[in-house]
Order: sequence, then C-alpha cells, then structure tokens
Amino acid sequence: MKAIVTGGSGFIGSHLCERLLDKGYKVICIDNFITGDHANVEHFLKNPNFRLIEHDITNPILGEELDLEGVSEVFNLACPASPIDYQKIPLETLWVSAAGTKNMLDLAVKLKAKFLHTSTSEVYGDPLEHPQRESYWGNVNCLGVRSCYDEGKRFAESLVVNYGHKYGIKTKIIRIFNTYGPRMRAHDGRVIPNFITQSLAGKPITIYGDGYQTRSFCYVDDMVDGIIAMMAKEGFKGPVNLGNPEEYSIKMLAEKIVELTDSKSKIIYKDLPQDDPKVRRPDITLAKKELGFEPKIGFEQGLKKTIEWFKKKGTY
Ligand code: UDP
Repeated sequence: MKAIVTGGSGFIGSHLCERLLDKGYKVICIDNFITGDHANVEHFLKNPNFRLIEHDITNPILGEELDLEGVSEVFNLACPASPIDYQKIPLETLWVSAAGTKNMLDLAVKLKAKFLHTSTSEVYGDPLEHPQRESYWGNVNCLGVRSCYDEGKRFAESLVVNYGHKYGIKTKIIRIFNTYGPRMRAHDGRVIPNFITQSLAGKPITIYGDGYQTRSFCYVDDMVDGIIAMMAKEGFKGPVNLGNPEEYSIKMLAEKIVELTDSKSKIIYKDLPQDDPKVRRPDITLAKKELGFEPKIGFEQGLKKTIEWFKKKGTY
C-alpha cells in the first residue's frame, strides 16, 4: 500500500507515518514545516519506504514529477492545530483548510485514492450540547480569535463531502478531540505540554480562567488506531468523533501533573482567552459501533508516558 500523509511531520502526523511504516506501507509525507518538526521524522528518512516532500499544499501538487502513481490513500492532516499557533498565522490556517484541502482532493481524484480528512472538535465551538454528538451543528463565533481554525475546518468538511458527491471518490471525515503524547513541542502552547514543561522546570503552572473548564484527553496511540480503522472501514464516510470520553477539569489536570512530576510548582491563574470552550467531551458511540474504537490508554498512564518523553528530551 502507498499513502500520502499531509502534515506528516507534525505531532499526530508523525505517529501516523510511523504506524503506517510498521504496517508495511510506502509513506509519502508532505509538509511545509510551518508548525511541524524535522525531529519528528528524521529517524524515518533511512527507511526506503518513507519519502519526505517539503511542500506547502496551498500550492497545487501535480504528481507526475513526484512518482505518486499507486497512491491509494490520502490522509489530510496539514493544519496548525494549537490555538497559539493558529492565532499567530490565521490566514495560513484558513488557507490550508481551504486551498490546501482542495489541492489534495484534486490529487486524490486524479489518483483515484481514498481521502481521509482530519477535522476537529472545534467545529462544535463553545458547545451548547454535551457531550458532543456528530449530529450537533455547533456554536461557533465566526469572527472570533478561533474562527480561522473552526471555520476553516467547517469549510473543509463541506468541501470534502461535495468533492465526494461530484467526483465519486471515497471520502472520510474524522473529528479529532484533544490529543496528547510524545512529540508535542515543548512550547506548543497547548495545555498538556505547557503544564508538563512548567512542572518539570519548577515554574508556575498557568491555568487560564478558573480552571473549571473541561476537556477530554486522548493518548496519541489510541487516536492513530482510530484514524487507521476509519481509513480501512468500507462504506463509512463519517463524520465521526475520535477522542477519549473521560472528562477532566483543567484544574484537575494541573494537580495530576504536579503529582506525577513530583513538582514544587505553584498554580497561578491567568485570564481566560476569548471564546475558550467551557466544556468538551466526545460522544464516541458512532466510532465504537462503526470502527470498534475504544481508547485503551488511561489518563494517568498516558500522562506518565508523556512526562517520561519530555524528561528524556530535556527541553523544558
Ligand atoms: N489552558 C490553560 N493553561 C495553559 C494552556 C491552556 O489553562 O497553559 C487551558 C485553555 O484555556 C483551555 C484548555 O486549557 O481551556 C485546553 O487548551 P488547549 O490550548 O490545550 O486546547 P483547546 O482545547 O482549547 O483547543
């Protein structure tokens, strides 16, 4: 099998590339490294089944010169995903979801490949329905600081579905909820790397708001299981939620990380950013039914593995 992974040098993308290589795939990773990291993929470069193409997918990729013949699956992950990243580069974020997704869909049509698009729980915005089911239309501020990500991903969902209708390619949409694990950048800005690096460095732990907002955290290996199962499932387009439905407040997360790192860090409180969702938890009934998806790595176990990785890497 031969697959393209856009955003393959990012956090989830690099774990997906690794799993596909382990399964014997030939993997073509396309990334412009706007938020990806060479360190995530350089150890794959000696594998003859891995190819890295440094390319911004907002520019069309033609294929002929790149020997993409035989590609049967396209995993479209390219997009900044951390709020601090996408708020710094909102236009690039909108454009990769729009033009980037269109260019990869055109390529999938040409190659007659299946196309899996990674959407997000952010399509539900600051949700008024809890937990979130796929049937919920969401509560998104279309002009807010998160809109470049939320609306970009919502546009991309529509684009993917309509390409499927018009060109008859097999399309799939997953909605990824908060995911964590090794290879997140130390200064990624998302809550788990922030709290772990702050705790390990003995620096104050920065809770935004009162810390009673909730999230549900999925370990990256479980997420990759879901992505692979979705691509393999015949006749199922989604959209389908992928995530771990165990829900924690940000305050509980901070306390747990302090405990697991045996840290002396104090918790401090900062302003809550605009449009920060108050609650988030996936309803994964559909993923269980269609994909047999069931996260296996518990909260504490996943945090321990992630802490170990940050300790080993030593960048905090
Ligand atoms: N957060 C926090 N301190 C931090 C980073 C994030 O309290 O140092 C909060 C953030 O305000 C949000 C939650 O943690 O309520 C999750 O934030 P993250 O950026 O990881 O992702 P989101 O789910 O908001 O996209």
